[in-house]
Amino acid sequence: MRCAIVHYHELALKGRNRPYFQNRLVRHLRLILRDLGIGQVDALTGRIRITLADDTPWEPIKARLSRVFGVAHFSLAHSVPLSQDGNLESMKAAIGEAVAGLAFNTFRVSTKRADKRYPLTSIDVDRAIGESLCALTGKRVRLGKPDLNIQIEMLTREAYYSVQREAGPGGLPVGVSGKVACLISGGIDSPVAAYRMMKRGCKTAFVHFHGRPFVSRASEDKVRELVQLLTQYQLYSRLYLIPFGEIQRQIVLGAPAPFRIVLYRRMMLRIAEELARKEQCWAMVTGDSLGQVASQTPENLVVVEEAAQLPLLRPLIGMDKIEITEQAERIGTFETSIEPDQDCCRLFVPPHPITRAHLDRVKKIEHGFDLGAMVKQGLEKAELAEYSFPPRRESLP
Ligand code: ATP
Ligand code: MG
Repeated sequence: MRCAIVHYHELALKGRNRPYFQNRLVRHLRLILRDLGIGQVDALTGRIRITLADDTPWEPIKARLSRVFGVAHFSLAHSVPLSQDGNLESMKAAIGEAVAGLAFNTFRVSTKRADKRYPLTSIDVDRAIGESLCALTGKRVRLGKPDLNIQIEMLTREAYYSVQREAGPGGLPVGVSGKVACLISGGIDSPVAAYRMMKRGCKTAFVHFHGRPFVSRASEDKVRELVQLLTQYQLYSRLYLIPFGEIQRQIVLGAPAPFRIVLYRRMMLRIAEELARKEQCWAMVTGDSLGQVASQTPENLVVVEEAAQLPLLRPLIGMDKIEITEQAERIGTFETSIEPDQDCCRLFVPPHPITRAHLDRVKKIEHGFDLGAMVKQGLEKAELAEYSFPPRRESLP
């Protein structure tokens, strides 16, 4: 039988939560591979098996599996039945055939035995298969950095062997850590912040504030593209698009210029919080990084988050721009993020924004506004967009 064997991080999945985590992962795997012609997805002891037909192409499956959080590593494997008397002849023959066409000079065999009742230890199996392969191919065993690492996993009735192991992204299956709402701009940082929360198991809803009717659709189009990209990791996303230009105009008219940015941010959080509660999120997420721009000084970060009651998570707070940029490149959002746009944040930006806002002063200024009405105004005009991965058939061109 041809299959993919998927391993998750043992440590993270220990204890009472394990069946729950494993079920989440199994469901995610079924969904993400659903259009690639796979067979069953089954939880075996400590690993997950995805049955493949002999002609199911491996490359697309490999590409998808490398984006499933919770996967530590995986491999394309084949199974052989195990005879309980310790006879390894059929395994020797099968592995001999599997390596016949491969270019290598050195190899090692690494066996894991899930069922300790089997009469041979894993080292016995390493040796037996190693000797047989040496005799068959004339190649040498090398334990450190071999050209080929043959993995064998012995379960009760069958064993799986594979010749190459692929790295997964690690992390926790999306959904096991509840749901969060990410404030996403078209910039480099917030998509990375969302990615990091998804990797810790959070299903993520997105909220974007755009400058319409005062600016074009550019930031909005970028955000749609970014959310589509990030949906590869969680398979379904909801994006709320909020017109913010009119609200900004009111702030501009009613507040001293240096306070605008802090007031915009507080207003964004209030509106996002309403949506977050509706979506049953336990926290909100932003891409703030300490000291990166005027709105991200310690004082301003504190004043901004005071506007919301839900916890505000800032997964990038201790990262610098280079680290964030590298991560954006790795996850594939960077190219979209750097496209020029007209973000609402660049609308009505004061020449000298305040870097140390005082909460008392900010609250006094806000007294002049009908905050409830402004929140309502934002929510009323909110548009909802939904994204799926793999894209649904009807939405394909
Ligand atoms: P980014 O690269 O994510 O835009 P930034 O370094 O440009 O971040 P700011 O513009 O100060 O920083 O924004 C800080 C955070 O506030 C963003 O990471 C994002 O979470 C949120 N934010 C800013 N603008 C918007 C927006 N238009 N819509 C939704 N969230 C926003
Ligand atoms: Mg920005």
